[in-house]
Amino acid sequence: MTQFTPEALENTCLPIFIDNEFVASEGKPFASYDPATGQQWSEIADATSEEVDRAVRSSRRAMENPAWRNMSQSDRGALLYKLSELVQRDTDRLSRLETRDNGKLLKEMTALTQAVATGMRYFAGMADKIEGTTIPVNKPDMLNFTLREPIGVIAAIVPWNSPLLLLNRAFSPAIAAGNAMVVKPSEHASASLLAFAELVAEAGFPAGVFNVVTGHGQSVGDALVRHPDVDKIDFTGGPETGRIIAGSAAANLTPSILELGGKSPNIICADADLDRAVTGVISGIFAAGGQTCVAGSRCLVHDSIYDEVIDRLVARTAEIRIGAPDDDATQLGPLALWSQVEKVGRFVEGAKTGGAELLAGGDRVPGMGDGWYVQPTIFGNVTNEMDIARNEIFGPVLGVMRYSDDEDMIAKANDTRYGLAAGLWTNDMERAMRFMGRINAGMVWVNTYRSPSVMAPSGGYKDSGYGKHNGFAAINEFTRIKTVVIDYSGKTHDPFVMRVQK
Ligand code: NAD
Repeated sequence: MTQFTPEALENTCLPIFIDNEFVASEGKPFASYDPATGQQWSEIADATSEEVDRAVRSSRRAMENPAWRNMSQSDRGALLYKLSELVQRDTDRLSRLETRDNGKLLKEMTALTQAVATGMRYFAGMADKIEGTTIPVNKPDMLNFTLREPIGVIAAIVPWNSPLLLLNRAFSPAIAAGNAMVVKPSEHASASLLAFAELVAEAGFPAGVFNVVTGHGQSVGDALVRHPDVDKIDFTGGPETGRIIAGSAAANLTPSILELGGKSPNIICADADLDRAVTGVISGIFAAGGQTCVAGSRCLVHDSIYDEVIDRLVARTAEIRIGAPDDDATQLGPLALWSQVEKVGRFVEGAKTGGAELLAGGDRVPGMGDGWYVQPTIFGNVTNEMDIARNEIFGPVLGVMRYSDDEDMIAKANDTRYGLAAGLWTNDMERAMRFMGRINAGMVWVNTYRSPSVMAPSGGYKDSGYGKHNGFAAINEFTRIKTVVIDYSGKTHDPFVMRVQK
């Protein structure tokens, strides 16, 4: 009988997971809150640095263990496939744990957990298709080829907004390629990753292939990314933390993938289908309460349709149903953290005094008790100089700005330190093609928004980070290339002349 249900974990302290076993951490526990009620529901342990070390050593042993190191690629894929079936079997329980922890809609977490199972199957199928190349090097009697090898121990640091999905972007390709992993979940949402660890053991992965240490970023996260025996860091989170982690990684020359935040433009051209475009903008910012890295928080609208778009956005926003995250009718739930509620409040006040026009929302939702609910908020007449346009808010706040022509649109869209995603609503394919070439963003969506796929690479430019998740690009991130040269000429060569092509 699993202990990992929202009911069973109530008022308990979450364990850590090392060597396929759950153990109580020696570290100090701290409270974990349910955003829908604002009340504490469980505790999380701040694992000690000795426990972090044990977890990394456990993963290193797994890399040396013939049961994992010599497992055939097809068997690795089969194990991952089996795990996907367990995730599918337990979708309801895993999704309810995530909703309890981060307050996001149960229907959204359910869809994402199903996507985790699909993604796992995609990478399970890839495990025995990771190939090197044979390279003609202009040297007769010499064979030159490459091997793609696992990197080793991967440290994954995950945020709270979609723990399983974001972990799996690293977990599945890393495990398909034969690595081992230690994950530190967010201190705000750790339960689902421990429930996942239980499934990893049930699937039959050798001990140490996957370990979980819980706790705060500055203590446990820092000890993990600075650990000298970590071979690669996979980080998803905010840009400020990303900078700290890149610095910590530099000390050991540990390579890293950084998936950071965004301030993505969602652009409506004069020729767009306005019904679709307005729905796309609403979905880009208010689905998930704006708590998504690809939130389309800057809406750029052509001058000629600005007033009509504003009217439609405000009318559609007024219809959004706010309520408990586990109610199927709810479209906007609470924010995950009290500090986020306060942060949104600061941005709203700053926008009001800074000259933006408040068109909808701007306050907490009345009648929701102590829950952390914030109204869907729209500001008009926003400019790129304003704080709400420059910084990631990670809440349900949309800034709408005007543009005059395509040159102005591209300039304004690119005028940001971020470069994660961009959306364009147009029926002019030539305009879309020109846009796609000039926008500085890792993902571009035309006549759609928030449409990622496990099969397509995702990742940002500029302050949105570096490295790619999803698609075959992710396998490249979790393998390293070894070049092998074999001389079968049978000849002895002049030792003082390097055998390069003249
Ligand atoms: P965060 O940066 O505060 O924390 C992320 C993780 O880093 C947490 O597990 C935290 O404990 C850990 N951490 C913090 N300080 C650390 C340190 N010094 N060393 C090691 N680990 C440390 O982010 P958050 O508030 O949890 O998540 C929201 C952010 O994540 C937003 O900026 C959002 O855009 C970003 N995000 C990006 C993507 C993407 O794919 N680009 C996806 C989801 C979220």
